[in-house]
Amino acid sequence: MRTAVVVGAGIGGLAAAGALARSGWQVTLLERADRVRPGRTALVLWPNGIRALRALGLGDGLDAIGTPLAETGVRRPDGHWLVQPRPVAPHRAPVVVHREDLHDALIAGLGDRLDIRTGVQVDDVRTGETERPAVTAGRQVFPADLVIAADGTDSAVRARLAPESAVVSSGCTAWRAVIPWFRAPKSMAGRVGGETLGAGYRFVAASLGERGSSGASSRGGVYWVATAAGAPRPEPPATQLALLRRWYAGWPEPISDLLAATEPDDLVQQEVRELRPLPRSYAFAAGPGGVVLLGDAAHAMPHHLGQGACLAFEDAATLAAAVRDAAPGLALRRAIEGYDRERRPRAATMVRQTRRMSAVLQTRGRLALRARDAALGQITPRLLGNAASTAAQWRPPA
Ligand SMILES: Cc1cc2nc3c(=O)[nH]c(=O)nc-3n(C[C@H](O)[C@H](O)[C@H](O)COP(=O)(O)OP(=O)(O)OC[C@H]3O[C@@H](n4cnc5c(N)ncnc54)[C@H](O)[C@@H]3O)c2cc1C
Repeated sequence: MRTAVVVGAGIGGLAAAGALARSGWQVTLLERADRVRPGRTALVLWPNGIRALRALGLGDGLDAIGTPLAETGVRRPDGHWLVQPRPVAPHRAPVVVHREDLHDALIAGLGDRLDIRTGVQVDDVRTGETERPAVTAGRQVFPADLVIAADGTDSAVRARLAPESAVVSSGCTAWRAVIPWFRAPKSMAGRVGGETLGAGYRFVAASLGERGSSGASSRGGVYWVATAAGAPRPEPPATQLALLRRWYAGWPEPISDLLAATEPDDLVQQEVRELRPLPRSYAFAAGPGGVVLLGDAAHAMPHHLGQGACLAFEDAATLAAAVRDAAPGLALRRAIEGYDRERRPRAATMVRQTRRMSAVLQTRGRLALRARDAALGQITPRLLGNAASTAAQWRPPA
């Protein structure tokens, strides 16, 4: 039986492990944490991510947990529309999902033939010409025909195989929260938020729906993400929340209502980081197969276009299709080369688009800002439109 080791049980690793296990591979999933845990907030899945999940056979689960994003306009802090909200055709609408729901759906897709080992921190990888590739964790060695490194931005496997790619700060910090529906401000009742862009600050809000209402996600509430230029704040969450309330004071509703309804324990702060440059390769041949990079391990990027998880699902769907009929040996080596050929240009394109958006978002200083504001009305719709259509163009391999 063909064997695979997946390093990292984040959403990318879970998606890839489940896809291989369902197509007859014997999969071992290694996670450094003491248990496989979901994130606490939410995610927006764009049409490409949704298509990838469907290709992975997880479409039904997604239909039960996704809430379509009804409002996709972009405003300035003075309320002026930079991009007018437009109704989105249902098949093109992005959906917002609670990470816990997504995690449950991915876990349900793992099946029962998969071996999950938690508390295993992979520290090295071996890629000889004749031996099977393997990862190590202290004295433990895990060989397999195929090793999938889905160990996130700080990937130990990537650090070893693609040392040219460094993790750097993107110059901004993100705060996220999901406010449970019972605490959500009344102003959100018939509203869904959308995006507001200011000088070095950005705020995005989306409704996860009322808990249990039909068609809504099983975990309801309101999701928001605020991004500000600068380093993470060392202060306790209550002080960070006070700062956020001050920074976003006077921004259009429902922003201050949402921040008022947020409690310090809801807050998740995260430095935004990215890989520069991207790894030169996503596939490293070894013995009868090799090692591939997947998800943030391959292409961590700022969240400005909300594409990181979507690309991880594309990676998983592409890899699953590439290796579906590949026997260990030349066929499997060719299959992972094919994965690299498909995925690197795609990731590079999305990273380029994201960097353009970073440049717009992080403009600071009055003059630069005025120039940006003048340009925003023209550039942002084009930029966002191009990014959205480039993202949406992806189709799963036949
Ligand atoms: C503020 C913010 C908002 C975002 N919004 C969106 C969005 O709306 N839409 C979207 O598509 N994307 C979004 N993203 C990006 C998305 O969250 C990531 O791209 C995605 O979670 C990456 O998943 P992953 O499985 O590749 O990595 P991770 O989620 O980082 O998982 C890696 C796993 O590997 C484990 N691990 C790490 N090292 C080791 C080791 N040495 N040994 C064993 N296990 C290890 C970790 O414990 C973890 O479980 C956002 C990101 C941020 C920061």
